[in-house]
Formats: sequence, C-alpha cells, structure tokens
Amino acid sequence: MQKNIILVLGPQGSGKSTQAKLLAEHLSYTFVSTGNLIRKKTAEQDAEAQTIREYMLKGDLVPDALVEGLLFPFLEVTPTAGFILDGYPRSMTQLDTFLQFLSQQAWKLDRVFFLSVSQQECIHRMKLRAEIEKREDETDEAITERLHLYHVETEPLLTRYEQLQVLIRVDGERSVEDIQAEIRTYYQSV
Ligand code: AMP
Repeated sequence: MQKNIILVLGPQGSGKSTQAKLLAEHLSYTFVSTGNLIRKKTAEQDAEAQTIREYMLKGDLVPDALVEGLLFPFLEVTPTAGFILDGYPRSMTQLDTFLQFLSQQAWKLDRVFFLSVSQQECIHRMKLRAEIEKREDETDEAITERLHLYHVETEPLLTRYEQLQVLIRVDGERSVEDIQAEIRTYYQSV
C-alpha cells in the first residue's frame, strides 16, 4: 500500500508538533513523533529503557538503530494513507537511511514544512513549556544541548530537502491558526 510522507521540521519550541498534529487531522493521516515513541519506551523497566532515558535527560540524540527500530515497524504496520512525522530524521545519516527505507517501500516523500523561528523565541517557548508540562528534558542544560544538536545535526538537512524539491519554508512566529492555514493551502484539494 502506497503511503504518503510529510515531514514537519524546525527547532525545538518552533511549534512543529502542534502543526504536525493539526495537519494530520486535516488530511486524516497518522501523526508520529519519534520523541513520543522513545518516551513510551523509557517507561519500561529494562536496562535498555534506562540507557535511553539517560540520553534523553541530557538532551542527546538516542542511537539511530534504536529510533529506527521503533519507528520503521510502526510505519510498516499502521494502516493509513499517510504519515506526518515529527522529530525524524534528525541527522544526515538518519535521512539517508530513511530515503532508502522509503524507496524500498515505494512510498513518497511528499513535502517538508520548515517552521522558521528565532533561537531566542524557541528558548522562551521551551521554558514556558517546561513549567507547564514538567518535561524532564527541559532543564536549562538539556534545552541548550538540544538546540545545539538541532543546529549542528538537523539544520543541514534543509539543503538536502531543497535539492529534493520538497522544502516549504513557513514563518513560525505567527499564531497557530495562521501557520496551519498557510500549510493547508498546499492541500486544498484534499
Ligand atoms: P522531541 O520530543 O522530538 O524533542 O525528542 C525528545 C528527545 O527524544 C530528543 O532530545 C532525543 O533524545 C530523542 N529523539 C527524538 N527523536 C529522535 C531522533 N530522530 N533521533 C535521535 N533521538 C531522538
């Protein structure tokens, strides 16, 4: 079964999860967050769960094989017309693995929405979220590390998406509704 893939990309605190969920609702696609898949895994009691928890608490990326071992089977078994992915791929290596996976499945990388938000605004939003959600990985140190990793590992992917002609840049410093309305203009016929 052909499945359509849409990525939502942006720094932590850019609002990408919110936008990805709203778009998934609009298209009746399945929303997938690797952060959520990994957090679910850390709730288990085995040694592997403990190791993953340590990566997350520091704000580090968990090993590729682990993320892909959770994500790919989920993508394969979920009956859906498409997925909106939040949090994956996060590095050039992950993107290469993912493109290979998509070509094996004969699935299409449809579009990549990049939410552009200034670093200052992202830090501000993450600190607010840390107070509300009490996420363990939103301490000052983990926030700094996650944003650093984003710039070093994830931001370079934009060039690849541009080459693949799937990249759409969206101004992320507007209301949730305005951003979503702009994203939906690309799917008006749905
Ligand atoms: P997120 O909810 O997307 O901010 O992810 C929270 C944490 O989960 C990250 O700081 C990483 O430790 C881990 N994580 C999520 N997605 C990935 C990924 N694609 N590769 C490696 N680690 C990830």
